[in-house]
Amino acid sequence: MRLLFVRGRRRRVERWGGALYEGGMAARRSSKNHATTREEVPVDRVVVPERVPDEDRYDRAFRPQSLDEYIGQSQHKENLRVFVEAAKRRGEPLDHVLLFGPPGLGKTTLAFILAREMGVQVHLTSGPALEHKGALAGLLTKLEQNDVLFIDEIHRLQPTVEETLYPAIEDFQIEIVTGEGMYASSIQIPLKPFTLIGATTRKARLTGPLQSRFGTILRLEYYSLEELSQIVMRSAGLLGVPIDEEGARAIAARSRGTPRIANRVLRRVRDFAEVKGQGKIDAAIATMTCEALRIDRFGLDDLDRQLLRTLIEVYDGGPTGVETLAATLSEPRDTLEDVVEPYLLQQGFLARTPRGRMATRRAYEHLGLRPPRAIPEVGEAPRLFEHEG
Ligand code: ADP
Repeated sequence: MRLLFVRGRRRRVERWGGALYEGGMAARRSSKNHATTREEVPVDRVVVPERVPDEDRYDRAFRPQSLDEYIGQSQHKENLRVFVEAAKRRGEPLDHVLLFGPPGLGKTTLAFILAREMGVQVHLTSGPALEHKGALAGLLTKLEQNDVLFIDEIHRLQPTVEETLYPAIEDFQIEIVTGEGMYASSIQIPLKPFTLIGATTRKARLTGPLQSRFGTILRLEYYSLEELSQIVMRSAGLLGVPIDEEGARAIAARSRGTPRIANRVLRRVRDFAEVKGQGKIDAAIATMTCEALRIDRFGLDDLDRQLLRTLIEVYDGGPTGVETLAATLSEPRDTLEDVVEPYLLQQGFLARTPRGRMATRRAYEHLGLRPPRAIPEVGEAPRLFEHEG
């Protein structure tokens, strides 16, 4: 940890996985909670894609170090390889990159990897941590040539901070206003060329002007069963726990296409393997653990099933507004929208219509309920995995 002076105020900067994290670990942790507060995150859920307390060390330990080690997202990887190579040949920074997609899919990891591939330092911060223009100016002025500035939850930047960012990313300069009223004057401070990597779970909440300033916009996708199994095998190797392919597949199938969840389920399965088995992870011990944690074969947990059941039993299958559902379930709306719904939608258990959410035939069948005749067939939506029985 080291101390930094910005506009006469002492602020805390911590090193985090080889990077500088502005605002310290507390800011980093809270930055992972998106629109909810730390306390609102249902920490007892194993399948939340957000980082839960004390998970940083695992995220760090499991983090791939290069594009070669980064599993999946193949098309993006191939393109990024070309962009990195071209930027390096020209001696320029990488174009600004916007990464979007649900939490836990590897946005932070990718920012680290891009910085490493470019051979530069990455500086981490988040929208909520940048409370005022001065905080951003302090960060920007200490960037070295071609460094990466990673702003997590970039959709949560204050408008005044966002405006300061525009000239910084466009012309590599910032304007500092000194004095007030008729004595006010502004000076332009040149910055070293750098790359902004923004990450967001809510691209739609980004302003048009900000979006248009990114040269590369990448949407990270949920991982396939194969890819997630590979991630589980790799993480088990790093933990030094023996695992067979079926064991990795069983964990992957219940991890909602999300590496962070797969790594978390793996750690729980390791506990069960040590206490209830012989220390080795196979399909039987993985299935037993998931049943104990109440994660079903599609990766749904109690809250997912509760949402579907409420929709069906209380609201006749919908359509119902998300606010109403959130109130009935006593869950923050953002938790439903950011954490619960994306996977249910993606897997075809839920349909989003202009009039609200509807349960699909697949949802009725999954809960063992008889579907009414007129019901959306969203089961046609692409599924991640064909599950074994
Ligand atoms: P996000 O920033 O999108 O919330 P992170 O980058 O923090 O997600 O990734 C969460 C965890 O998942 C990290 O431990 C990371 O190592 C692991 N992970 C993410 N993507 C991959 C990948 N493509 N290959 C291997 N591990 C991954």
